[in-house]
Amino acid sequence: MEPLDILVFGAHADDAEIGMGGTIAKHVKEGYRVGVCDLTFAEMSSNGTVELRQQEAAHASTVLGLSSRSNLGLPDRGLVHSRETIEVIVEEIRRLRPRIVFAPYWVDRHPDHVQTSKLIEEAVFNAKLRNYMPNIPVVNVEQLIYYYINDVEAVNLTVDISEVYATKQEALRAYRSQFDPFATNNSVATPLTNGYLERVESRDSLLGGSRGCAYAEGFAIKRPYNVSLF
Ligand SMILES: [Zn+2]
Repeated sequence: MEPLDILVFGAHADDAEIGMGGTIAKHVKEGYRVGVCDLTFAEMSSNGTVELRQQEAAHASTVLGLSSRSNLGLPDRGLVHSRETIEVIVEEIRRLRPRIVFAPYWVDRHPDHVQTSKLIEEAVFNAKLRNYMPNIPVVNVEQLIYYYINDVEAVNLTVDISEVYATKQEALRAYRSQFDPFATNNSVATPLTNGYLERVESRDSLLGGSRGCAYAEGFAIKRPYNVSLF
């Protein structure tokens, strides 16, 4: 398989779309190969079934034009820091061979997002070690970048997503079971059903305003990002 340019990890299908659906759409439009890998099937979600959420993820993936969408099937609300979990993630990184990896920001109200952040950091590190799982060729990820799901702080990179904003919104609307309080007749109220998408739009608009564009997504990095200025 041709290597990916960008691989985005989330705990649940919809994490990547909330935090960086615009950045994904923009890079796909510019010809980059982008993949999303969800660690769990979100089987603990209050709304929607695993099957429905998988259909929604497939729809969102088509809208965004992803080159790959995978799910590692790790336990929702049972993501633990273990040797086995990190091995499974390293295998996925080495299978897809991305240049840049994105993970959820390290502070978030949902503990699984925080755990995913840590697990991906460890897996990106191990993926380049030739004596770790030596039967699979190593992958040296150029940069690990963090995106925001629920909480935003310390933004130090932004991407102008104004031109692809409609695509981000369409990808998010694919997750109807999560965001629409009337999606099914046994839907319950959650933080996501109460104006969540409007808040995401406000956040993207506010971040855009700080950089003079209509909409932007914000990111954080732990290690300096190397750029060519001229
Ligand atoms: Zn999530």
